[in-house]
Amino acid sequence: MLKFNRFRGGIHPPDSKITAGKPIEKAKLPASVIILLHQHVGAPCKPLVKEGEEVKAGQKIGDSDSFVSAPVHSSISGVVREISTQLLSPIGREVPGIIIESDGRDESAKMEAIAPATASKREILARIREAGIVGLGGAAFPTSVKLSPPEGKEIDTVILNGSECEPYITADHRLMVEQPDKVVKGMNVIMNVLDVDKGFIGIEDNKKDAIRRMREAVEREGDKRIEVLSLKTKYPQGEAGSLIKTILNRETPSGSHSYDIGVLVQNVATAKAIHDAVFEGVPLIERVVTVTGDVKEPKNLLTRIGTPFYDLIKECGGSKGDVGKIVCGGSMLGVAEFENVPTIKSTGCILVLDREKSRIPEERACVRCGICVSVCPTGLMPTILEKLARERRFEECMDYHILDCMECGSCTYVCPSKIPIVQLIRYGKEEIKRRE
Ligand code: SF4
Ligand code: SF4
Repeated sequence: MLKFNRFRGGIHPPDSKITAGKPIEKAKLPASVIILLHQHVGAPCKPLVKEGEEVKAGQKIGDSDSFVSAPVHSSISGVVREISTQLLSPIGREVPGIIIESDGRDESAKMEAIAPATASKREILARIREAGIVGLGGAAFPTSVKLSPPEGKEIDTVILNGSECEPYITADHRLMVEQPDKVVKGMNVIMNVLDVDKGFIGIEDNKKDAIRRMREAVEREGDKRIEVLSLKTKYPQGEAGSLIKTILNRETPSGSHSYDIGVLVQNVATAKAIHDAVFEGVPLIERVVTVTGDVKEPKNLLTRIGTPFYDLIKECGGSKGDVGKIVCGGSMLGVAEFENVPTIKSTGCILVLDREKSRIPEERACVRCGICVSVCPTGLMPTILEKLARERRFEECMDYHILDCMECGSCTYVCPSKIPIVQLIRYGKEEIKRRE
């Protein structure tokens, strides 16, 4: 147990992990999927198929020439029904995408597996890109790009993030319990590509079974470079800067990236996707999604990417009572969605909340208690930032490092005056980026 070097601030919301003991179930094959051509950081993909064309599960159907991008694949076999430029995405914009109707046969197009012991780094990186792998912890940054740090940046440590500190979500937890060997083998590939000889897997101490299973897997793999650490449960432990501070006691300076301080952080589900692409030739076409909250039967579902949210909610028995909100993500970082949006590569949780839980509390005046400042893991002044953003004083927001806000929502959670601090900060950040 690490008792030192913990990150500053943070909170302890109820973890509400009602699906923690529920094994991963395979979701039903969807009747149709919506594969968005822009579900990652970087350039959107262009379609590689035409309407009416037959496709197989795992077939690449969209790609881009840009370095910072990731191809997309059909997640089912069937027929391309429509290629649209305006499909609603869970990231809150309309993006181009491809609608595929299932033929019910679920035929797949796999790639050849490669042997990482004999393959070159270049081949492995090419495979990771070709498989469409992006950061599955939510960032959706193309993994082949992340594993190619800029010239002069030396990585000495890889951290695999198994914290899953966000309330409600248990997708990574179940993955670590049920498929720990694949996660460890994927991490091994990451470390070899980067030539790194120290790796940590950080898991919060509310997932004791995952810690045990991952330690056993590391033992079986015999990789002495990797250590599984039990971390104190505290939100937002899973944020990269917090994790680096906790494990290595290194600070990520304002405006810099973790590889500026020699660290690469990946999510456990991303490592598992790397395993599948390299050892089994399977591109990223499915992932575990926790469907939880006010549904009749909360589950961890192995879900084809592009499945509409309503299919998955239906598979969990539908909602309990009147739906107030459908959230993509957990209760802290999640974003409200329409039920007809499709899952994308970074969708790890669909949270259904009833009307009472979705009620927006009445906002009162700031009482200058300073609690928001004390919990901010980044050391910002949330009380000042919300005021400046509200008054559209964006240049002054920059003086207070608004862009360093990781939008963890800890400040909003503790505010006794129920001020929507993180929403105002998010608004300020978007306005600044739009103007730039
Ligand atoms: S949302 Fe931003 S300002 Fe608020 S606690 Fe988190 S990092 Fe700090
Ligand atoms: S927690 Fe709320 S009331 Fe207290 S200082 Fe911050 S914004 Fe003001």
